[in-house]
Amino acid sequence: MTPAARPGVVYLVGAGPGDPGLMTVRGAELVASADVILHDRLIPAEALRGAREDAELAYVGKRPGEAEIEQPDIERLMVEHARAGRSVVRLKGGDPFVFGRGAEEAEGLAEAGIPFEVVPGVTAGVAAPAYAGIPVTHRDDASAVAFVTGHEDPSKDGSAIDWDSLARFPGTLVLYMGVRRLGEIVARLIAAGRRAEEPAAVVERGTTPVQRTVHASLAELPDAVARAKVKPPAIVLVGAVAARRETIAWLERRPLFGRRVVVTRARAQASGLAATLAALGADVVELPAIRIEPRLDTPQVRDAVGAIHSYSLICVTSPNGACLLFQALAEAGLDARALANATVAAIGPGTAAALANRGIRADVVPERSVGEALVESLAAVDVMDRPALVARAAEARDVLPEALRDRGAKVDVVALYETVAEQPDPVAVEAAQSSDYVTFTSSSTVRNFVAAVGDRVPHDARIVSIGPVTSQAAREAGLEVAVEAERHDPDGLVDALLQDAATRTVVG
Ligand code: SAH
Repeated sequence: MTPAARPGVVYLVGAGPGDPGLMTVRGAELVASADVILHDRLIPAEALRGAREDAELAYVGKRPGEAEIEQPDIERLMVEHARAGRSVVRLKGGDPFVFGRGAEEAEGLAEAGIPFEVVPGVTAGVAAPAYAGIPVTHRDDASAVAFVTGHEDPSKDGSAIDWDSLARFPGTLVLYMGVRRLGEIVARLIAAGRRAEEPAAVVERGTTPVQRTVHASLAELPDAVARAKVKPPAIVLVGAVAARRETIAWLERRPLFGRRVVVTRARAQASGLAATLAALGADVVELPAIRIEPRLDTPQVRDAVGAIHSYSLICVTSPNGACLLFQALAEAGLDARALANATVAAIGPGTAAALANRGIRADVVPERSVGEALVESLAAVDVMDRPALVARAAEARDVLPEALRDRGAKVDVVALYETVAEQPDPVAVEAAQSSDYVTFTSSSTVRNFVAAVGDRVPHDARIVSIGPVTSQAAREAGLEVAVEAERHDPDGLVDALLQDAATRTVVG
């Protein structure tokens, strides 16, 4: 590599403990602009999503059973990239300077004369307890907190940790990497005078939707943790503050906590539903079954847009349809005024909202988002001999155009997009196997999901459908529908799922 005129900067960035929302603003900014990202294993899966498409991403952490990249090699890699003028993000779990070897890397960079910046992260020792409802300090219980590595064998002579002093420490003990040696550590602390009855807890995979907390007295903690089969990464916490959890645990009390829910909507639309479910505590697996392919460059679309002023009724049958209709208008140099003379009908509240965003308040919006309901709502609109436009997906049902034709309207049906099958991500397919719920928001998601996963349909999951048409498609695909939404929009689907979950206890 030839040295650049000016070396790039290396950023030692903390990615937080697992919840992607706990990355700092600065960290996310740097990930988005980096040329090279060298990351560890314990970073949130979503942390790299914002990276540039052409960024070089390299995993440099340990892999169980495989030769690990040695620390000097990681440092050499950073120096080489920086000397070539690249901006390098070294992304580590939690905080880079808390048991993260970040300091060694900073020292290496300082020695090599490479400019660097340290971006602290939210450390697991504070965040995992917080998500379990345990404050590491409290005015009444703990005026000090100690962060300790539990990596070392406490019975070994010459251990760097003074366990006798720690046993006397007047405050909360937070142990990183302490699960494997928990029995020895607890025995050592009690032998040195720590109270056997002191409240204690272990938080496994804290801040993630699969967080688990085991809470017991210090003496009983190792057995409780063994019974629960807790595995790393986990934080061990010893201190009176652990009892506060009984009142202020919050994540684990969310209504969908402990439930894995599959979202099969197209990725472009899934984020709202996925975010709502995640905010309710669900472990959301995004497994988009379909993708929207716009089809705006067709004679039908061109003709309809050319004649847009002549329609007395314009029906829009999905939020995608609303968005693409306006895109087609814009491409023809038109805007919302093109719909000024028409009665505008939206199939439901979501579509009406998409139209409203573009300056059109729909005249007709049925409460239930199905073709039949729209037909009913249009009963009072005189369509005899009038030109009507139905803007929709290529593979939509014909209920609406047929009903309008029966009432004498001159109907043009225009397909603005097709829904095509999305390639399933094998990691998501695997995660979906142990899901509690699979949600379907349209018949095309059902058909494409079943076609995509084949015999890997999660058989124990309860199927949640947005409405009767989707349910019918599910039954035709051989699925048993457990829950059908009363309101046929994503919020209605979430309400129905919540009701169902409330009647069923979490197993496992
Ligand atoms: N630099 C990191 C710590 C790295 S050491 C930080 O500041 O958080 C790795 C240890 O961190 C694990 O063994 C575990 O004890 C803890 N840890 C990391 N992520 C965790 C999580 N999501 N939940 C609980 N403990 C976690």
